[in-house]
Amino acid sequence: MHTPTSSPRKIALVTGGSRGIGLAVAKQLARDGFDLWLNYHSNHGAARQAKTEIEALGASCTLLPFDVADAAAVRAALNPLLETQTPYALVNNAGVRKDNLLIWMQDDEWTKVISTVLGGFHNVTKTVLAAMIHAKRGRIVNIASAAAHAPVPGQTNYSAAKAGIVGATRSLALEVAKRNILVNAVSPGFIETEMLDGLPMDKILPLIPLRRLGRPQEVADMVSFLCSDKASYITGQAFQVNGGVCM
Ligand code: NDP
Repeated sequence: MHTPTSSPRKIALVTGGSRGIGLAVAKQLARDGFDLWLNYHSNHGAARQAKTEIEALGASCTLLPFDVADAAAVRAALNPLLETQTPYALVNNAGVRKDNLLIWMQDDEWTKVISTVLGGFHNVTKTVLAAMIHAKRGRIVNIASAAAHAPVPGQTNYSAAKAGIVGATRSLALEVAKRNILVNAVSPGFIETEMLDGLPMDKILPLIPLRRLGRPQEVADMVSFLCSDKASYITGQAFQVNGGVCM
């Protein structure tokens, strides 16, 4: 007699998944049927809360604290897991901003943003990619920014990093398409998270055609689509979720 077996849940690795957009992405992917490998940097309290919320959705959640900019730390955290499991989806979401006019920008403000955004993409993707290639399937979604597409004064570091992410998305998409791995970017506009703390909302809101900030869930829904079977013929693209702030 044939005994029906439930297929194992796919795994999604989300970097910077403990707060903001990353948390909304992780929770949506949990609702979509993924188990989570949830990376964050140092806020353990927020990560524990995120794990509780994800598990309440019926998914398992493995917390992975490491700095995505630290290649050795990335490998030390992920390689033991990769010996027995391969994520189907990787969402490179961890990012920081350190705004300053270039004339005043400190070397560490430049380096921190580049090494977290671009270095993080490189370190995490490279660590996971061999297993994905072996599995001959996978989805990689890189969180870029409207700053990759439109000029923002005070963000030469952030714009360079995020435009770099869009370029890297296209190159990698071309490299791995024949292995059935699809690579896309999502570029959010102004999304209501702690990253916006300190920005002048009275000046920003009139610039947004929809006249409101975006919600993390509105970015998560695009990521969810790109990780789903519905997006099976989409690769090498950058999708903007920005209320029309950049068209
Ligand atoms: P938040 O500041 O709300 O959350 C950042 C998350 O990234 C946290 O989980 C944090 O972990 C983690 N993180 C930060 N640095 C590292 C690191 N070096 N290694 C590992 N994890 C790290 O950010 P948002 O949710 O607002 O942003 C998420 C992504 O979306 C970023 O790439 C950002 O650039 C991009 N984005 C955001 C926009 C917005 O308006 N909010 C607009 C456009 C793009 P911990 O808490 O432990 O520090």
